[in-house]
This record gives sequence, C-alpha cells and structure tokens, in this order.
Amino acid sequence: MGTGMPMTAPDSTRRAVLLTVDDDPGVSRAVARDLRRRYGERYRVVRAESGESALDALRQMKLRGDLVAVILADYRMPQMNGIEFLEQAMDVYPGARRILLTAYADTGAAIDAINVVDLDHYLLKPWDPPEEKLYPVVDDLLESWLGSDHRPVPETKVVGHRWSARSSGVREFLARNQIPYRWYLSDQSEGRRLLDAAGHDGLRLPLVIAPGGEVLIEPSDQDLAAQVGLSTTPAEEFYDLVVIGAGPAGLGAAVYGASEGLNTVLVERTATGGQAGQSARIENYLGFPDGVSGAQLTDRARRQATRFGAELLTACEVTGLEVSGPARTVRFADGSSVSAQSVILTTGVAYRLLDVPGLAELTGRGVYYGSALTEAAGCEDQDVYIVGGANSAGQAAVYLSRGAKSVTLLVRGPSLEASMSHYLIQQIAAIPTIRVRTGTVVAAAHGEDHLEGLTLRDTASGGTEMVDAQRLFVFIGAAPRTEWLEGVVRRDGHGFLLTGPDLAAEGERPPGWEPDRPPYHLETSVPGVFAAGDVRSESAKRVASAVGEGAMAVMLVHRYLEGL
Ligand SMILES: Cc1cc2nc3c(=O)[nH]c(=O)nc-3n(C[C@H](O)[C@H](O)[C@H](O)COP(=O)(O)OP(=O)(O)OC[C@H]3O[C@@H](n4cnc5c(N)ncnc54)[C@H](O)[C@@H]3O)c2cc1C
Repeated sequence: MGTGMPMTAPDSTRRAVLLTVDDDPGVSRAVARDLRRRYGERYRVVRAESGESALDALRQMKLRGDLVAVILADYRMPQMNGIEFLEQAMDVYPGARRILLTAYADTGAAIDAINVVDLDHYLLKPWDPPEEKLYPVVDDLLESWLGSDHRPVPETKVVGHRWSARSSGVREFLARNQIPYRWYLSDQSEGRRLLDAAGHDGLRLPLVIAPGGEVLIEPSDQDLAAQVGLSTTPAEEFYDLVVIGAGPAGLGAAVYGASEGLNTVLVERTATGGQAGQSARIENYLGFPDGVSGAQLTDRARRQATRFGAELLTACEVTGLEVSGPARTVRFADGSSVSAQSVILTTGVAYRLLDVPGLAELTGRGVYYGSALTEAAGCEDQDVYIVGGANSAGQAAVYLSRGAKSVTLLVRGPSLEASMSHYLIQQIAAIPTIRVRTGTVVAAAHGEDHLEGLTLRDTASGGTEMVDAQRLFVFIGAAPRTEWLEGVVRRDGHGFLLTGPDLAAEGERPPGWEPDRPPYHLETSVPGVFAAGDVRSESAKRVASAVGEGAMAVMLVHRYLEGL
C-alpha cells in the first residue's frame, strides 16, 4: 500500500492502540512523535520505556477491552530485550502486529526472532525519513490487522467455569439486568489471557472485569450491581411510597406512583422484570399482537419508571417491615432501612425447588430453575430435559429447541392439555426435536461436578430408566416467599398476602386494625401497606393483571394518604 493512502480505522470513539517501547527516552519519544503525526487521528499512540512497563500497559488495556493493532519494540533493552518482551506481549495480544527495531549489527537476532515471536517485520534504525522507511511498513501491517477478526470488547467480561454455580449466577444477574457482557471459559485461550492480565491464578472464579478494567473476584450481586452502575442504596431517608419487588406489578406501581407525583422508590432483590423478565415471549399482553419478550417489556417499563422520576434500587433484598405510627419502615438484608408513608408489596412468587436426591448439589452446574434464557447458549447440540407441564416449561422448550439437539419435556400428569395453553401445545407439536414424556418424573440426578445423568420414573408402572443429560431446567410452579412478613402482615395458608375483602371474610376487621373504615381493596392487614400482583392471595397470575393491580394500588395509596 502507498504511503499516502487513507485507511479505515475502527470505531474512533475507542481508538485502537499503537504501542512503542524503547529504553532510550529520546528514541522512544521520536518513534511516538512520528507515529502520532501520521496515525494520531485514527489510533492512540502509547509509549513505554521498558518491557515491564509496556507489559503492564498491555495488561491494563486488555482488562479495559482496548484493541492493540501494532507493537514496535526496540531489540536492545536492559532486563528484558525486545524479543523477550514481544514473546510475552503475544500472550496478551496475539493478534497485534509485531515490529522489532534493531541496529544493523543485530539483524541476525532479528531474523531469529521471526521464528521465536512470529515477527511481522524488523526495522533498521534509524528509520528516517519515516515516509520511506516507517510508514509503508506500519501501513501494511495496519491493513492486514484491519482485515483480521478483532472486535473491541468494551463491555463487562466474565471469566468462569462452565459448571460453576456462581459463574452461572453472575451471568444470570447481568443478563436479567440487561448489562451487556461477554463470557469466556477459563480453560480457553482468551479466558486464560484475561486471567493472566488480571494477575489471577483462576482458582477462584468467576472473575468479572468491569468496562473500566476493574477486576472483581467471585463478586456478590451487590458488588456487581455497584460496579456496573446500578443503584443499590436509597438516595433519601423518607419517601411517599416504597414499592418492594420490580416485576410487572412493582414496575406498574412505580410508573403510576412517580407519574402521579409520589416520591417513589422501587426496591428489587435481583433484577427488574421478575418472572415476566424471564419469559422468552409473552404472547397475550395487550397491545403486542406479535408477542413481546420479557426482556423488552422490562426494559421499556424500567425506562418509563425512571423517566417519571422513580428511584430504582437493584440487588437490594427486603427482610423486614416495621410499623411505627404513620411511618412504615422497610429493612434491608444489610441492616440498613428506609421509611415511607406507604408501601406496596409486589414480591411475586419464586420457583419451587424439586426435591430429589442429587439435585441440590448440581444446581447451577447443569440444573437450573427458570434461567433458560441465560443458559440457552450452553445447550447447543445437547440433550436437554425440562421438568414441568405449564406454560413456562412449554415456552422454555420452544426456546431451547432452537439450539439443542433434543428437548424432552417431563410431565408428571397424563397430558399437557390440563396445564398448558392450547397455542403452546400446538407450537410444541410442530417442532420435531421436542419430545413430550407424560407420566414421568425425575427420581434422581447424577454427576460429579456437573449434571451427567438422570433417573426417570414412570408414574404408572414405577419402572425407572437412566438417561444421559447435561442440562435440566425445572419449572414446577412457584410459591410466595413472604416468611419475612410473618407476624406483621396476614397471609393465607400458602403464604400469599390477604387483602381487602379477603381480610374481612366474616365481616370482621383484621385484629389490631385501627382505622374506622374497612381495608381498601388491595390493602393488607396493615393500613397503608398494599399488595399487588402474584403475591396477593387469589390473584390472576398474569402480566396484565399484575400491571393493572400495581396501578390500582397507587390509586388506593392516594386515597389512604388523603385520609391521614
Ligand atoms: C417463564 C414464564 C413465562 C410467563 N409467561 C407469561 C405470559 O406469557 N403471559 C402472562 O400473562 N403471564 C406469564 N407469566 C406469569 C407472569 O410473568 C407473572 O404473573 C408476573 O410476572 C407477576 O408479576 P409480579 O410483579 O406480581 O411478580 P414477579 O414477576 O414474580 O416479580 C416479583 C419481583 O419481586 C422481587 N422480590 C421478591 N422478594 C423480594 C424481596 N424480599 N426484596 C426485594 N425484591 C423482592 C423478585 O426478585 C421479583 O423480581 C410467565 C411466568 C414465567 C415464569
């Protein structure tokens, strides 16, 4: 390529790097100056004066996800010569093009280096004028580098083990919070490179590298949330309204509360979206004739809530509710608290655990509860088993069948008709790789450090059969997790929250009820504390009804506040 020809550089907002290392500061500055003059607009020129400091810089860039296009190293440097440096630099950035700067006397060493470090070029010093000696070489190398596969990875990077439960948890947390991330296996080359760059031996995984290059080892959800820019602590001490749980009901309540002038905070244990956020396709939500993915619906709802001014806290589990006069105090798992005039409980339900031998130990290591979307990529060409006969199991079967070799739906009952929507049964019947086994349950799970097989039992004959299985997804219904409200808010026999007329079944008001009016329709046994969505006793267990109840609860909050 001629020296005057323009070249297309990658994304200018994140310019790739040209790195030069020379122990003589004068020479180092001169190389950098010449490079900047011609490439400075399109590339970032980084200069170092020793092999060690250049390697440090490369490792930092690796963690930040920067691209390195060309490395120019002087041969004669104390401690670490240019070839030794390039050999180590190759481990960090194998795709970067490599140039060795040598004196005439060192051409023999340079020629040897072509084999040792797969050198792309050696340049004899001095390279003046650069238009003739330096630029044509760098132009050529940049052209070949631009033609190779090198994608910038500015997003969060997760290095982990395929069968580690926490690696799976971290990925699920990021995915459900819609934080873009890239996943690297620790035993593959780029994963190892990232571990080396972070100076980590890989014994404790996962390792998370934030977009700014910060490294977290086995982070908790709270640490992760804080690092990727999600709020975890309230900005104020007192609110008009605290909404607990950011599923459709909580997001609905936050949108209506904030848009109607209430100072509102929405508190979520894991990730916004709740169960609906995990749905591959919600087909029956009004206004979306072609269906909508849970992630899309969640993203829109979250943006809508924050646009109206609702504050959103993530990775924040509520463990207590205290009543003191008109104040309602919500306590968090870390011991901190926030108070408000009113509370809406929208904590929904969580998956029920399947209790069979061997399964608990393998959870997150091939056995998953409702995390079908995150784990889908790992199911390619595998035999996947799903337990459950309701819509959530059916949706997961359809979704996973796109990549898996086969999907077997294990259903305890005699047919799907009683538990699954007609449209899903038809979809499943039309996919040849999905097999439905009715009258079948999982009797045991087997595997050393990850799921390897299942024992299945025929419910009619009692006969058992061993099958190979690497992935099992469990969707066997859900239960409310409201134990923390015991003794504060009245619950039904299954733990769902009683509200309004259900509290006064025999015309009696709840014990300790002080107002001279009966509880409002969605009000719990504590005045000013409301419940909406799946957590409410006798609720409809639908996205639309959860959103609707969230809106209605806000209307009742206004009525309650007016009566204070
Ligand atoms: C896979 C799947 C597919 C579905 N498909 C459909 C469908 O197509 N159509 C349809 O209408 N319905 C569907 N549903 C049902 C629907 O998603 C639920 O009815 C709806 O999500 C209920 O909303 P919610 O806000 O009441 O509760 P949830 O969605 O359960 O949300 C509750 C939220 O509260 C949080 N939380 C719980 N406890 C605490 C705590 N102590 N502190 C802080 N936060 C807490 C949880 O982490 C969760 O995010 C589906 C459900 C699933 C699982």
